[in-house]
Amino acid sequence: MSWLISYEAPATPPPALDWERLPFGRIFSQHIALAYFQNGKWDEARLQPFQDFRLHPATHALHYGQALFEGMKAYQRPDGTRFVFRLEDHARRLNLSAARLSMPPIPLDLFETLLRELLLKESYLFPPTLKQAIYIRPFYFATDPYVGVRTSESYLFAIFLSPVGPYYTQPVAAYVETEYSRAAPGGTGNVKMAGNYATALISNARAQAADCQVTLWLDACEKRWVEEFSTMNVFFVWKDGRVTTPSLERGTILAGVTRDTILALLQAAGHPTEARDISIQEVIEGITSGTLVEVFGTGTAATVIPITALHYQGKRYELSAAQPTIAEKARAAYYSLLAGETTLQPDWIWKI
Ligand SMILES: *Cc1c(COP(=O)(O)O)cnc(C)c1O
Repeated sequence: MSWLISYEAPATPPPALDWERLPFGRIFSQHIALAYFQNGKWDEARLQPFQDFRLHPATHALHYGQALFEGMKAYQRPDGTRFVFRLEDHARRLNLSAARLSMPPIPLDLFETLLRELLLKESYLFPPTLKQAIYIRPFYFATDPYVGVRTSESYLFAIFLSPVGPYYTQPVAAYVETEYSRAAPGGTGNVKMAGNYATALISNARAQAADCQVTLWLDACEKRWVEEFSTMNVFFVWKDGRVTTPSLERGTILAGVTRDTILALLQAAGHPTEARDISIQEVIEGITSGTLVEVFGTGTAATVIPITALHYQGKRYELSAAQPTIAEKARAAYYSLLAGETTLQPDWIWKI
């Protein structure tokens, strides 16, 4: 099936970009790609200049929260190869999120067509080195102008781009949240819906007061099992070389594509890895006794980021990073995959 796309060009030429000083998430593409679901089908797709939306005040998503997003990256290699990393895995997760929120699936070929057209028109955004990337933000929300809680019948799916540098420019310490919870079994912890982030924000002030940059969430029922950060998955490295990340089985953790990539890279490099339940008790005792040597976070935006300390129940537990660290090795392996120096799965690289 081919998707008819109407096109309107932006009025101004592309801006010049200062690649070495790119802020994260503040510069936007000149185009936005849009697709409308109405009358039971995807019936219009277009590429147009990036501009404000006009929304009906009763827009369903603003009241009842049928809203979700994805985040992925496009890169350019020194040889000029341009690609999106693990596009199909992100598209699959987008549709898992959609199914959980009673929203219609987005056909893969619609997604691919919109994204390819957008990236072709925005070719000036491809950065000169792998230190920078094009952050791709697909998002999807309910647009019925109706006051009443029911599944919306109309939706807007959109994609814009943002050229980005590093997400974190300073060391990151984590605040372990012991009062609020992010996700409960049977809830939406494993889907990328907007509401998950809204409910997590309340922890930010406490994290800041404890001189931490991110929150580490525990399970909702017992506040005993470590789950993940607000926008990243978590990994633990033990003195004996094992690398552990919480298991996805409870359905309360977002199945990060970067998490999966890092697990595969560590396994390929011969590191023993395990996905299992891990208690905050085990973590704290590990840091205190020296058997837990590293904690790091993974996500598309930050890639791999070492955690320098955990703040738990009023105490700060510093991680004394040994050299060279597994986080650094994992990060290097990730970038070597992006650079095309190594290959794990050829279909992870979606060339443009
Ligand atoms: C997006 C996200 C991640 C990281 O997922 P990636 O696919 O690796 O980018 C982890 N946890 C949460 C809650 C997220 O929203």
